[in-house]
Amino acid sequence: MPGHYFSLKIMDIEKKIVLTGMQPTGILHLGNFLGAANNWKKMLDAYTCYFFIPNQHAITVPQIPANLRHGTLNCVAQYIACGLDPEKCTIFIQSQIIGHTELAWILGCLTPLGQLYRMHQFKDKSSKNENIYSGLLYYPVLMAADILLYNADFVPTGEDQKQHVELARDLAEKFNGTYSETFTVPSPMIEKTGARIMSLKAPEHKMSKSDPDGNGTIYITDEPKIIQKKIASALTDSTNKIANDPERPGMVNLLNIYCAATGIATADAEEKFKIYQGYAPFKKEVADALIALLEPVQKKYKSIKDDKEYLQSVAQKGAETVQPIAQGTLSKVYRKIGFLGN
Ligand code: ATP
Ligand code: MG
Repeated sequence: MPGHYFSLKIMDIEKKIVLTGMQPTGILHLGNFLGAANNWKKMLDAYTCYFFIPNQHAITVPQIPANLRHGTLNCVAQYIACGLDPEKCTIFIQSQIIGHTELAWILGCLTPLGQLYRMHQFKDKSSKNENIYSGLLYYPVLMAADILLYNADFVPTGEDQKQHVELARDLAEKFNGTYSETFTVPSPMIEKTGARIMSLKAPEHKMSKSDPDGNGTIYITDEPKIIQKKIASALTDSTNKIANDPERPGMVNLLNIYCAATGIATADAEEKFKIYQGYAPFKKEVADALIALLEPVQKKYKSIKDDKEYLQSVAQKGAETVQPIAQGTLSKVYRKIGFLGN
């Protein structure tokens, strides 16, 4: 039977590796969800998926220890609530694995300083903080280590992390060229819709967990009433027309959110809304779409968020799966660069 033959052939092919993560710095927002987590769950069957919690990245800006501790396990709960079934993927905590920071040190010794100073995230975050630490500059090197340690083929992210994945590619090529073929050269995986969700209050800036103005941000745990309120007060303009007009960033953002949440193409949404008078009915539809989208996530989150034992067991199983892989890569790298084995 040709169909049967085909499915056997697919099973023969080794699955490609996907690796990605989100910082445990609070409740995920709509950008994290539409630009990242909501797409990740579609990969569970086709790829070997590693979803990690980059708590070592989180301390590149000051953190309160109790919040970080709580946020890390809470992030496991949020991953699962977003549809990352731990039976189908590996979820692990970065600091529980030996290898990330060790490889980062080695990669850092191959990274030109100028390339780090040019990173958009560094420029953006360092302009907002008074005290800048070298860890913030070094962030993309650690991210390259996260990716290369597991020889990931693909790194699903939002647009904002594309430049960092490009550095990981450069470093993989540089290491391979200098010491012989070692690392897989990774590719970013960026879905078009939802890749860049902007703040509802300052649509020239991306929606961000570190934005102190919570009104510009929709969190995945926001109650329907809050979602309605935040969307109703989202910054638009006085044109009163629903259109994908790049001159009107607030408008474009709401349309992008609507399309990413519903799966409707931008041109079809423009067509649907062109008869609408004023923004209120349009905003109501955007809010309704978000409420429907987030309802199953919130239900799952409520059911597991306080089950510490379960969440810890997921992280432990994840660590047991990935630690030998990390150790294997690191031993190979140490040997190639001339470190003695122990
Ligand atoms: P922080 O402000 O602390 O950096 P963040 O909101 O940028 O937090 P991250 O944990 O850095 O969140 O990013 C997690 C994932 O979410 C990454 O894949 C990133 O590309 C994606 N992402 C973050 N913000 C947005 C956004 N506004 N639109 C689309 N994707 C986003
Ligand atoms: Mg970020």
